[in-house]
Amino acid sequence: MSAFVSLILCVVACNNSTPEPAPEVALPSVHAVAGVVSGSHADWCGEHAVPESRCTRCDSSLVPAFQVTGDWCGEHAVPESQCLQCSPELKIERPPKES
Ligand SMILES: [Zn+2]
Ligand SMILES: [Zn+2]
Repeated sequence: MSAFVSLILCVVACNNSTPEPAPEVALPSVHAVAGVVSGSHADWCGEHAVPESRCTRCDSSLVPAFQVTGDWCGEHAVPESQCLQCSPELKIERPPKES
């Protein structure tokens, strides 16, 4: 019986660590500022996870350029090369920060 009691005590004693709350990351701006080099680390739309210079959801004037090259998903209104609904395995990588 004493083995059972010490097992209970251990469970209680070993279980008293409080989980750390996930820190809130406040992003000042998720969008690239004007004038960044296209294809650079700074050229990134954090809201839509694509290069800002190619983000048709932020800049609809980019749409015709994609449409003429056939890189357009009419169903989801994004470039086919950015359409995660049609290509869930699609990975758009942010370029590394240049040193
Ligand atoms: Zn965007
Ligand atoms: Zn699509």
